[in-house]
Amino acid sequence: MAENTADIYGSLVFNDKVMRDRLPKEVYKSLHETIENGQQLDEGMANVIAHAMKEWAVENGCTHYTHWFQPLTGITSEKHDAFISPQPDGTAIMAFSGKELIQGEPDASSFPSGGLRATAEARGYTAWDPTSYAFIKDEVLCIPTAFISYTGEALDKKTPLLRSMRAISEQAVRVLNCLGVEDVPQVVTTCGPEQEYFLVKLDDYRARPDLILCGRTLFGASPTKGQELDEHYFGPVRETVSGFMQEVDDRLWRLGVDAKTKHNEVAPAQHEIAPTFSRSTTAIDNNLLTMEILRNTAPHHGLYCLINEKPFEGVNGSGKHNNWSLAAPGLNMLDPGDDPAHNTIFLLTLAAVLQAVDDYQGLLRSTVASEGNDHRLGANEAPPAILSIFLGEEIGGIVEAIAAGKDPHSIDTKEMDLGSSVLPHLSQDNTDRNRTSPFAFTGNRFEFRMAGASVNLSSANTVLNTAVAMSFEGYADRLEKAKDAEAEAHKICQEVFKEHSRIIFNGDGYAPDWPAEAERRGLVNNTNTPDALGACIEDKSIELFEHFGLLSKEEVLARYDVDMDHYAKVINIQAMTMYDMGSQMILPAVLEYSGVVAAAAASKQDFNSDIDTGAEDKLLTKLSAGAERITAALEELQKMHDEAAAEEEGAPQAFAYRDKVLPAMAELREASDEMELLVGCEYWPLPTYNDMLFYV
Ligand code: ADP
Ligand code: MG
Repeated sequence: MAENTADIYGSLVFNDKVMRDRLPKEVYKSLHETIENGQQLDEGMANVIAHAMKEWAVENGCTHYTHWFQPLTGITSEKHDAFISPQPDGTAIMAFSGKELIQGEPDASSFPSGGLRATAEARGYTAWDPTSYAFIKDEVLCIPTAFISYTGEALDKKTPLLRSMRAISEQAVRVLNCLGVEDVPQVVTTCGPEQEYFLVKLDDYRARPDLILCGRTLFGASPTKGQELDEHYFGPVRETVSGFMQEVDDRLWRLGVDAKTKHNEVAPAQHEIAPTFSRSTTAIDNNLLTMEILRNTAPHHGLYCLINEKPFEGVNGSGKHNNWSLAAPGLNMLDPGDDPAHNTIFLLTLAAVLQAVDDYQGLLRSTVASEGNDHRLGANEAPPAILSIFLGEEIGGIVEAIAAGKDPHSIDTKEMDLGSSVLPHLSQDNTDRNRTSPFAFTGNRFEFRMAGASVNLSSANTVLNTAVAMSFEGYADRLEKAKDAEAEAHKICQEVFKEHSRIIFNGDGYAPDWPAEAERRGLVNNTNTPDALGACIEDKSIELFEHFGLLSKEEVLARYDVDMDHYAKVINIQAMTMYDMGSQMILPAVLEYSGVVAAAAASKQDFNSDIDTGAEDKLLTKLSAGAERITAALEELQKMHDEAAAEEEGAPQAFAYRDKVLPAMAELREASDEMELLVGCEYWPLPTYNDMLFYV
């Protein structure tokens, strides 16, 4: 790379440095206060900021700007407007006003709203989120915004997240004040998303309608070799992939996305990219950008990037671990420090998280529910669909002691002697890793591991923040009244650790007896999306959202409809794709190959009727039976699809697609995959799992 990495880093971002350099002192100060301390921005300053942004953008080659937002589709949206403003004398100037910065008016009629807004009332607004930096993508100035309807309902994923950040900040600040930490302007939640993905060859992608239309394979016999040799995880990165990763890093760094870690993941052709954590809103904006850049960059290298949760059946799926913590200036509230047993802020924050996850298990699970993720959770590769918390030996021991009214004690950090004078002495972490836990304490943060690769993490973080805010609110009410806040905090910890101990599970989440044990503990186990989404509309969930002014009951119900509808539509597309592939590609291949085998047998017989055609006979019998099974499965799929499609849109359709269409799809797949192993490879119309997973 000719350019210096440090020079290009953030070069396409209107970041703090650019603001400081280009804005008048007063305006910079005010905007900086808004970003750092959550204070309302004086709108009078918008014109000045807009002008500076435009000048900077134009100098960097921009001709257009867009309000960049996150509708309920889960992806991002943008509509480009030129800066150009015609003048009466036939010339034009580049202009951008404060009003254009602050507010946009996209036609909202084609975005899902769950019936909140009739199509005729198409007006929607986008509102500038000054806490996320504007950036330049493809010569367009992108301004992160929230998206709301004409009547003020949130139509996006970001608005509730911003509100949840405010809710948890207010309650956490109250708690900190009670514990003697004064002058805390705000507490922000931090997020570090680890993004997993697969790379396949572009030619293979183009040859598979299921990858093109659904992002995952709907057919395909298991590969001959899987991940059993453990050679891919952290293995050397192949050169094509390495070139791709370098370009991704370069593009992300320019956008100020701190892409830090990259490596091969467990499955063949699977990889991961992780940034350094940041404020949750920024981290999620950046993760959405990362997914976009992964997808856009791959074709430059003859590759295609699959971010679906389960691109290949029987092969590890892709997740997105959501590392989460709470930060006040100079303080990570989940940092155990040297003596966690006596670190009140840490213990109380831990209590707040335990209580939140236990109280809102179903709701938290619902935030990562999707058709793709249903193939992952509980499939012996990802965490189970049951929420539980892993604390590890030391923290778990402290929690147990406090719950039992005993004196808790911290364990001294151990040094490991590696038995060689040239190797350094390493200090051991206070938790070992537990890969099977859906919600693990990992040293100074929690890692929520249920999220699937393609999800917008806003919903998960919104619920996490709000549920923890709810715990904190109860604690703050008590602490503010208490004479001795330390003693009261200790009492709260003891009560919470006792009352919510069922959510702690340090064992193996893949163990076959865990679901039964979880049921005994009364933990929620929703194994599929329609069931999981049901938790959003329970009274308790709606009360939580309303309590902190996040979403109204109508908005929650509307979101439920949008998500159920989305689930049904995803399966509908998959079912139709399968039908077409089955009838237009797979069945013809089986029949053609049967013809070839029959012709071979016939010509042998012609040549010499004594020659044995037993092999052809056997094969033909199997091929004919297979063709018949595929034909029957196609008919059944058609029938089930028609029945499901006839149901009322929203929840009824979602359940019908789950109960009728999914089993029919499974049968068609099984019938077809069996044939894949019999039909001669040059007759098979699709790249196989072996082709797609093992390439150079
Ligand atoms: P792992 O070993 O779990 O794969 P990675 O290094 O891939 O770890 O990812 C860990 C992620 O956790 C990184 O994005 C990192 O920045 C993030 N992280 C670290 N500390 C915090 C924190 N306090 N809050 C949120 N995320 C954090
Ligand atoms: Mg990782």
